[in-house]
Amino acid sequence: MSAKLIDGKALAARIREGVAARAAVLREKRRPPKLACLLIGDDAASISYAGSQQKHAEGVGIDYELRLLPGDCDMQAALGAVDALNADAGVSGIIIQMPVPKGLDGFALQQRIAAAKDVEGVGAANLGLLAMGRDALAPCTAAAAFACCQATGVEIKGKEAVVVGRSVIVGKPLAMLLLGAHATVTQCHTRTRDLVAHTRRAELLFVAAGVPQLIGREHVSEGAIVIDVGTHRVDAGDGKKKTVGDVRFDEVAGVASQITPVPGGVGPVTVAMLLENTVAAAERG
Ligand code: NAD
Repeated sequence: MSAKLIDGKALAARIREGVAARAAVLREKRRPPKLACLLIGDDAASISYAGSQQKHAEGVGIDYELRLLPGDCDMQAALGAVDALNADAGVSGIIIQMPVPKGLDGFALQQRIAAAKDVEGVGAANLGLLAMGRDALAPCTAAAAFACCQATGVEIKGKEAVVVGRSVIVGKPLAMLLLGAHATVTQCHTRTRDLVAHTRRAELLFVAAGVPQLIGREHVSEGAIVIDVGTHRVDAGDGKKKTVGDVRFDEVAGVASQITPVPGGVGPVTVAMLLENTVAAAERG
């Protein structure tokens, strides 16, 4: 391997340290930052995810509150719960655990979150502000991929950046962040003709396609910086599982100048970004 690793765990630790210092200032002013999570139903994965969120939040001095609703509640009750969190002056940031049970409209629930408390950056207002180059709570994964690139120290301005993926929570906001940093941005997606021709032009290549091991040696030019957003649990043989990204790491590490590993790249930084957005929301509140 010739590429230098972009260490997401170390970057996340630095971000958490900064968040903890800001949270301490708020606590001193008796305005403790608080993240509230609305969990509807009893999906085991969601409950476990909320437990991990709580640990991360409390670890940096952010209070955490889990509000539970039964899985058979109706849309009116769910919207009422979001409204109550919006109106609660003690709550700085709100997450709605996805997916919500069948019969509820997860999109409508997320759009109901007050923009100032939308710490996952899933609402139209924050995406709109981001598109306008204004101060916004950016979607955490997009912000994390961008931060991994910034952490290389390489100037983004003027670079050819290629984003593979155009989802609302990753690809599109990532392209906006890169435009804001004055990169020349190409966005690729499932209907893109000749993906290789585009990715090979990238000096900064971001992959958020959700396809395990999509990007290989042939897609990457010598010296490119490669940020892999993908995360997948796949069979490792012997009945075991392993985590891989959208990039064939071993191949691409031989040609890239710097690359994020999976696991240990964008993932840990995403969690840190949620904490950073929460403390930022509390500071403004
Ligand atoms: P998504 O499925 O919503 O979007 C995937 C995008 O990739 C689509 O816009 C699609 O057009 C494009 N795409 C798919 N196949 C392609 C192909 N062959 N060529 C070109 N474009 C292609 O996924 P998402 O929510 O944006 O997530 C992307 C990846 O990031 C997933 O692997 C997901 O697990 C991962 N993810 C990681 C984190 C993290 O914290 N690291 C957080 C969220 C998502």
